[in-house]
Amino acid sequence: MIPPRWRRIARERVSILVRLAREEARAHPERSKRYIELAMKIAEKYKVRLPKSAKRKFCKRCRAYWIPGVSVSVRLKSRERIIAYICASCGYEKRYPYAKKARKAPN
Ligand SMILES: [Zn+2]
Repeated sequence: MIPPRWRRIARERVSILVRLAREEARAHPERSKRYIELAMKIAEKYKVRLPKSAKRKFCKRCRAYWIPGVSVSVRLKSRERIIAYICASCGYEKRYPYAKKARKAPN
């Protein structure tokens, strides 16, 4: 059992690392990846979640922090109703479905 105090500290560290990763993503991408790796290790070890601000923000394969237009390209595939994030660093593609506005079906 992990003491709640440790988990609180772990959460703090994770959010600091995610922030550093964001700050360094442009100038030092490799360092930025390392911060994400460390954040994930801490999160796993102390069973804490990554902050909401980190969701969809980095590559699951290479840990690159994703800045749209810089380290990730974002494409809407409207026919498939999918938003695709393509990692500029390793080419990994993450797809999420999005809901299309409800419209009355034509007869
Ligand atoms: Zn990647």
